[in-house]
Amino acid sequence: MRLTTDTRPGTFSSSIAEEVRAGLPLTQEAAYASIRGDTELADLLAAARAAKERFKPGVVTYSRKVFIPLTNLCRDYCGYCIFRRDPGQPGAHTMTPEEVLEVAHAGEKLGCTEALFSLGDKPELAFPEMRALLHHLGYNSTLHYLEAMCELVVRQTSLLPHPNPGLLSAEWLKRLAKWSPSIGLMLESTSTGLLKPGAAHDNAPDKPPHKRLRTIEEAGKLGIPFTTGLLIGIGETPEDRIETLAAIRKLHRRYGHIQEVIVQNFRVKPDIPMRNWAEPSREDMLRTAAVARLMMPDVNLQAPPNLSAPNYEELLDAGINDWGGVSPLTPDFINPEAPWPHLEQLELRTEAKGQKLKQRLAVYPEFLPQVMARPGLLAEKIKAAVDPQGYARRAV
Ligand code: SF4
Repeated sequence: MRLTTDTRPGTFSSSIAEEVRAGLPLTQEAAYASIRGDTELADLLAAARAAKERFKPGVVTYSRKVFIPLTNLCRDYCGYCIFRRDPGQPGAHTMTPEEVLEVAHAGEKLGCTEALFSLGDKPELAFPEMRALLHHLGYNSTLHYLEAMCELVVRQTSLLPHPNPGLLSAEWLKRLAKWSPSIGLMLESTSTGLLKPGAAHDNAPDKPPHKRLRTIEEAGKLGIPFTTGLLIGIGETPEDRIETLAAIRKLHRRYGHIQEVIVQNFRVKPDIPMRNWAEPSREDMLRTAAVARLMMPDVNLQAPPNLSAPNYEELLDAGINDWGGVSPLTPDFINPEAPWPHLEQLELRTEAKGQKLKQRLAVYPEFLPQVMARPGLLAEKIKAAVDPQGYARRAV
């Protein structure tokens, strides 16, 4: 399908271009055409970059963080995951409270402001060993333990937690939000085809899209700033990506709580079930990010630099305005083969694209008022961490 009426092949039709220039979001139909390649990449990128400049002129953010892999035990078996372990497998580990604090304190010394808790989904439901460990630590479930560790970090350090524990009920969202200014759950894809035998999510009980959408919607009802996004190159079609973005947009229009959308690209690793899959191409990644920007011109858009090295600065051409969490201390445990760029390099390359790099907190400036309105220790900690513009006080 071509939506172009312009005489030059592959350019936006003049009516779409006008709408985009006026800041109107790309319609789902126009997005389908753009992601399939009916629009010249250069035109698409120029429109996405202009949209980003209207939204957040001259600024690109990142969050200086420590990565806290609270447990890598997980009851799901996603085909692209190198993080997860079964009990007894080499590298299987659940961090103790002492280990959590040690990492958090080390991060504090390096100017980090975020403690990103990443962990497997409900491992105690599959593994008696995890139930025994949690019992030994004094908790009924991984979520109870996570809640206590978020509280510990808030009470004993200056870091702000951002937990990513998988599916959450309204009750658990509320509990975790008491100690976390934002929470994350990647929608990844709304494609149910990925649940079929041999597909990326065929043995992943927490990945059916309707369950993930429910968690994101519950967070919206509770007004919790939420991070979500899509994972591309795991067997979805280009149309699936648009439907995933449209589903996120729909929830954001209803609740206004999506603080950022991540476009993450699948990276192949030698030991994963999907080790023979092809990675998405550079054009694929740029096109997807640009369409995401144009579908949601007023939502923060993030892409991880380490997954697009060595030329990650090209992502700025697709209208992203955030690099996500970058750690001067801990590796990316989800993609251990892809080291974070040095922060000096990140700053230089961001500046070379005409943008100022700013350190943000685990919650974006525009979502601060609603979080700080909640009374309690978390709001006090945020107040101590934030600068007058809503960025991190300890800026680079
Ligand atoms: S991606 Fe997440 S849910 Fe899937 S196996 Fe890995 S840790 Fe578990």
